[in-house]
Amino acid sequence: MNFKDYIADVPDFPEKGITFRDISPLMADGKAYKAATEKIVEYAKDKGVEMIVGPEARGFIVGCPVANELQVGFAPCRKKGKLPRETIEVSYGLEYGNDVLQLHKDAIKPGQKVLITDDLLATGGTIAATIQLVEKLGGEVVGAAFFIELKDLKGRDKIEGYDIFTLMTY
Ligand code: 5GP
Repeated sequence: MNFKDYIADVPDFPEKGITFRDISPLMADGKAYKAATEKIVEYAKDKGVEMIVGPEARGFIVGCPVANELQVGFAPCRKKGKLPRETIEVSYGLEYGNDVLQLHKDAIKPGQKVLITDDLLATGGTIAATIQLVEKLGGEVVGAAFFIELKDLKGRDKIEGYDIFTLMTY
């Protein structure tokens, strides 16, 4: 299956000069969505994954079906103010300004093997912040999996040393 056939390239979104890679057509096709998540399941299955953590919102779309298939838990990583119980947080740089990501304090037990998921790796800022949160709680990040990698933005450099899996590259 050529997964790129299910990605919509949207010019000038969210601003002029940026081509947004929209995964909605992939999600809309049950067979393609299942096949894409299966690839991540295959990548993860010998890693002893005990929990999956994904940043909102598309990290959930990738991570939850994989968690179900592996029969492990999923913990959502969210923007500040969305999680209802006690949290830990990290602040990370965006193109303009900063944002804060949070995780429930009891989301990960020390020593747990964690897979991190998101739809797309761009500059790596989001995933680096998610990794920091997991490690603050004592989790061991055994891998990070994405549907898409935007090579030119060199996100891999920001998370050097971690095991990374991507299904498609642009
Ligand atoms: P980074 O932090 O690596 O620079 O950006 C990645 C984050 O931004 C991911 O959470 C991803 O959902 C979102 N993102 C940035 N650009 C795109 C894009 O072109 N398509 C999609 N689907 N998500 C994007």
